[in-house]
Amino acid sequence: MFIDLATISVRAGKGGNGSVSFHREKYIASGGPDGGDGGRGGDIIVRADDHLTTLMDFRYRRVYEAENGVDGGARLCSGKNGAPLVIRVPRGTLVRDKQTGALMADLSGGKEILLARGGLGGWGNKHFATPTRQAPRFAKAGLPGQSFEVTLELKLLADVGLIGLPNVGKSSLLSVMSAARPKIADFPFTTLVPNLGVVRADDDHSFVCADIPGLIEGASQGAGLGHDFLRHVERCRLLLHILDCAGGEDRDPLAEFDLINAELRAHAPELGEREMWVVANKLDAVQDDTLMDRIRKHVAPRPLYCVSAATTQGVRELIRAVSERLDALEPMVIFEPDFEAPAPDAAAHQTRIEKRGGVWQVEGVWLERLMRNINFTDVESRLYFERRLRQAGVFEELERLGVEEHDPIKLYELEFEYVR
Ligand code: GDP
Ligand code: MG
Repeated sequence: MFIDLATISVRAGKGGNGSVSFHREKYIASGGPDGGDGGRGGDIIVRADDHLTTLMDFRYRRVYEAENGVDGGARLCSGKNGAPLVIRVPRGTLVRDKQTGALMADLSGGKEILLARGGLGGWGNKHFATPTRQAPRFAKAGLPGQSFEVTLELKLLADVGLIGLPNVGKSSLLSVMSAARPKIADFPFTTLVPNLGVVRADDDHSFVCADIPGLIEGASQGAGLGHDFLRHVERCRLLLHILDCAGGEDRDPLAEFDLINAELRAHAPELGEREMWVVANKLDAVQDDTLMDRIRKHVAPRPLYCVSAATTQGVRELIRAVSERLDALEPMVIFEPDFEAPAPDAAAHQTRIEKRGGVWQVEGVWLERLMRNINFTDVESRLYFERRLRQAGVFEELERLGVEEHDPIKLYELEFEYVR
């Protein structure tokens, strides 16, 4: 079964931890701090690959993790950066944020994008040396990489879409036009998946043609199988509307033509305006001599081509005409990403102070991060922590809000009494 929607989790690498180390050498009494920095975590990159045509692989592997940065070492050795992870997707894949549905990237242009950034490595203790603190016994931990769940969505990048009711001969036609060999059977709904085929017009010209199955009445409202597949028509530059002119099973090609067009307009108004040619198929089996004329009048001014997928009569002419027309038509639309990464740092620097049940609670993303990096059993580390709180204006703000001597203060799991 063709899969054109997949959900995966991506996790960029964590930054390596900074190192706590002191210079040691013979005859040198006490060397300075020389703990190196941790390496950066690897990024997650998404790249369009023309050799892929489905999202099938993503059914079997759902978690994509890039390498973590290596911890820093002694003698100012920086840890190695984590290698990026490249996720290959078919050209035309849209990447959406799973939670909001916002478009993060469109891989139609054959580019690659940075999807999740690796975490920064932590600083080694070298950075924390100050004139008054010669031997800092702490370093910073690496930060986690970005991680989220994304939905991959593949819309076929077909230049030409074959549309029409079931059993009119779309799959048959695609199979004689191209090297693709879609399943063909003698009943409606044979084709549950859109088949792609590369059609060669001549040595220098080829185009991609898709057989869009399952268009039935009410498809745009989600009835039947058609709805899923209507999405695949969206990017076609030219639609070939196939009609069955064999006249079997009381079919009325004229009414069917109007029905499908109404479906298209209901799904997306711009699809109703997409260039459409009409192809009367099963020319070898026409029973009603007046039918072709009636069709021609009904579909005018749209061009009409009469073919037989069974005998391939008229197929060559159709391919040549389509190829020439495609040369003149605008290239496919590429959707611009409408995703704006939330500015994490603006919110990260904010501090919330609230008095709940007589306890002053101090919270903030920066504070949580800072506390992860503090070794509270180490005096120097604690002093460093206090200095950072002072710099961030936490004590000032507490005073402004009316904190009193000996009031309980809570910073996440850390509780203490306020002392001026
Ligand atoms: P789809 O549902 O539109 O994909 O239609 P199919 O390609 O599966 O064809 C439906 C039926 O019509 C099959 O039995 C085909 O053999 C038959 N068919 C397709 N093209 C022709 C044609 O040109 N002439 C005749 N006589 N039969 C055809
Ligand atoms: Mg079919």
